[in-house]
Amino acid sequence: MDVLDLEPIKLNGVDFSQQRPVVIAGPCSAETEEQVMNTAHDLAKRGVKIFRAGIWKPRTKPGSFEGIGSEGLKWMKRVKEETGMYTSTEVATAQHVYEALKYGIDMMWIGARTTANPFAVQEIADALRGVDMPILIKNPVNPDLELWIGALMRINQAGLKKIGVIHRGFSTYDKTIYRNLPQWQIPIEIKRRFPNLPVICDPSHIGGRRDLILPLSQQAMDLQFNGLIIESHCTPDDAWSDAKQQVTPCDLFEQVLNKLEIRDAAQTTESIEDLRGQIDKIDEEIFEILAKRMRVSREIGTFKKEHNITVLQAARYDEILKGRIALGERLGMSPNFTKAFIEAVHEESVRIQMDLMNNEKKA
Ligand code: PEP
Ligand code: MN
Repeated sequence: MDVLDLEPIKLNGVDFSQQRPVVIAGPCSAETEEQVMNTAHDLAKRGVKIFRAGIWKPRTKPGSFEGIGSEGLKWMKRVKEETGMYTSTEVATAQHVYEALKYGIDMMWIGARTTANPFAVQEIADALRGVDMPILIKNPVNPDLELWIGALMRINQAGLKKIGVIHRGFSTYDKTIYRNLPQWQIPIEIKRRFPNLPVICDPSHIGGRRDLILPLSQQAMDLQFNGLIIESHCTPDDAWSDAKQQVTPCDLFEQVLNKLEIRDAAQTTESIEDLRGQIDKIDEEIFEILAKRMRVSREIGTFKKEHNITVLQAARYDEILKGRIALGERLGMSPNFTKAFIEAVHEESVRIQMDLMNNEKKA
């Protein structure tokens, strides 16, 4: 089992495991000193404690704005001195780490493209050895939970214990309303495996659109995420990167944060206990019925073996799949869920029947 040796992330006035949501806000990129300072003062005035700004930007194609570079770190230092906010930025190489440390950056994050590359993560981990600072690790661009956990382990094994993760969605070739598909089951699984790991949602990069920030943030809160990292720019329409998804500091509060409903994290009322008891019972029944289905499937396997019939009967499988999806829909379940469920059940039936056939051959 993968193990992480974690310590709580506590900055003066911000406790990642107590406060919900912890808010990290600031522009996608630091562009000019004026833009950084204006945005920062406006956010600080409204109570934001942690400022974000990209100094080095991983752009898809060369020729786009690739970040202002170290020059911008001087502005981040000014932000810290004038507003008292903590500053954070993305690091992708050892050199970025050294530069950020030199200018007193308080927290660093590893971007989605970097998390996908173990060489790069190891290089960053080695550069951070001996540093005591919170590090947030974004999910890799591809939906690979183990790769994400591997990056956490590399940073942790370099001695950094104040680690958190950022869910920013996953690349997809399909056209969807999202810029990056949320695939919530992946951050849910990481929370299950590491209950003390703070989980932050990045609705700006998941949605890619201003109007999706609120619903995505609400979903994250209802899934007990600890915080939100949201891109905010003093004049978003003029932003040099990610213009469509940035909001003014005013809109960040009026259109998003003030509208969020923060529900109780620890629901232990009797009614929820009662409902959970019902779920446990229903799951037990589902498993008993599933086991019965597998037994019948085994009997069919024996029949096929005795009559020399192939295990896979494509037409029959097609009929089952279509029939069950229609049945599921009539019962109010989504076709995607029913399909995934029936595919998993069918795969297990085929495996059981193949085992029977192979044992026959060996005998
Ligand atoms: C960002 O936070 O500006 C960024 C580049 O994000 P990601 O690594 O999630 O694409
Ligand atoms: Mn961005």
